[in-house]
Amino acid sequence: MKRTVVDKEIESRLSEGSWTLKGCLGDDPLGIDRIEVDCARLDEFGLELDELGRELECLWQAGAQRLGAPSEVQKDVRVVVEEAKGRMPCPFGHPGTFSKGVMSIQMGDKQLRFSPLSIHMLREHGFLGGWGSAYRVEPSDLARLASLLKQDQQNQNSQD
Ligand SMILES: [Zn+2]
Repeated sequence: MKRTVVDKEIESRLSEGSWTLKGCLGDDPLGIDRIEVDCARLDEFGLELDELGRELECLWQAGAQRLGAPSEVQKDVRVVVEEAKGRMPCPFGHPGTFSKGVMSIQMGDKQLRFSPLSIHMLREHGFLGGWGSAYRVEPSDLARLASLLKQDQQNQNSQD
């Protein structure tokens, strides 16, 4: 894929040691072209970035209420939010900054990790992290999470 100057700049900000301490691209051979591949897979799963982002933000809120203690948002999903001091800008050049912190979502034997910035990058840029980076999430794991959360909503509705 042909890169624009802007793409290259974003890619360099996402790279290790440049913008963030450990970088968001990991050792992904695709660089920011990973976005296109991931978004195509999310599409196959019928997932929308905006909706995923909203759900992740809700989980963050749920977890943040019990700071550091696990919050069981439903039968198979446990969330732990640990906030941290400091803020980070979006490497894609958005104005404003994002608070630091980590949300761990335990889903069976699988653990997913998010930060406010990684949720923003997912929602606004379709960026799920490069392979091997700290906040990489696989589209298939997001699909599993979304389906677990949907089941829960259906259960709640049927109880009403
Ligand atoms: Zn952004």
